[in-house]
Amino acid sequence: MARGKKIYEGKAKVLYEGPEPGTIVQYFKDDATAFNAEKKDVIDGKGVLNNRLSEYFMVGLSQIGVPTHFLKRLNMREQLVRNCEIIPLEVIVRNYAAGSMSKRLGIEEGTQLPRPIVEYCYKDDSLGDPLVTEEHIAAFGWASQQDMDDILSLALRVNDFLAGVMYGVGIKLIDFKIEIGRVYDGDFQRLVVADEISPDSCRLWDIESGKKLDKDVFRQDLGNLTDAYTEVAHRLGVLPKSAPVSKPTLIN
Ligand code: 5GP
Repeated sequence: MARGKKIYEGKAKVLYEGPEPGTIVQYFKDDATAFNAEKKDVIDGKGVLNNRLSEYFMVGLSQIGVPTHFLKRLNMREQLVRNCEIIPLEVIVRNYAAGSMSKRLGIEEGTQLPRPIVEYCYKDDSLGDPLVTEEHIAAFGWASQQDMDDILSLALRVNDFLAGVMYGVGIKLIDFKIEIGRVYDGDFQRLVVADEISPDSCRLWDIESGKKLDKDVFRQDLGNLTDAYTEVAHRLGVLPKSAPVSKPTLIN
């Protein structure tokens, strides 16, 4: 399927016009960045793994009635998605303290939270995606109160789904980030889960050993990132057990 003009290039993906109006081709790169792109590398096979894993999660979500932008995977690195207007927020759900929350509130990494906590960050790399409150979101018009109710409900449904799927393969879902898009069916607006869901945007720890299987492996120099993502894919059955761990690009 021919892709059209490049629309946008981000840190981990490139977006192209899709073959039909209202569609986008999302291409997953091997580039890894952390700390607002201060740390950068190219990790062989990461894009292939994230394309497959994001497909797996998005398809699972739509099977339980959570709307997403995903239409179909096109090949090893590309998927067709619905064009949507991205709400400029990173929606973060946390089940255990880690990362910026541990730093900000002085809570030890891995502490179970009394209930899932949802946070919002304003999507702006030049500002380092700052934490914002619903007051900021309403006052600056990034989302309406109705949108915020829908976003909270979507975020918690994604959390229940992902946490359950991960628990089933011996992985603890520490936290994750999603993005939400608006799609229009005529005059009617719906919110959908957009962007990607992959180990780039989640924290995943092995339940038994506590081993990290997500982008913190890259952020904290804990080992080979492709091996960690391949492990997640194998456990979920997204890659056949026999697939060579170091060459995920051979699997379509
Ligand atoms: P933290 O706020 O602790 O750095 O991140 C919380 C969760 O959201 C982690 O799972 C992290 O991977 C994800 N996250 C936060 N910001 C970004 C981002 O800009 N890009 C991606 N891919 N994930 C993010």
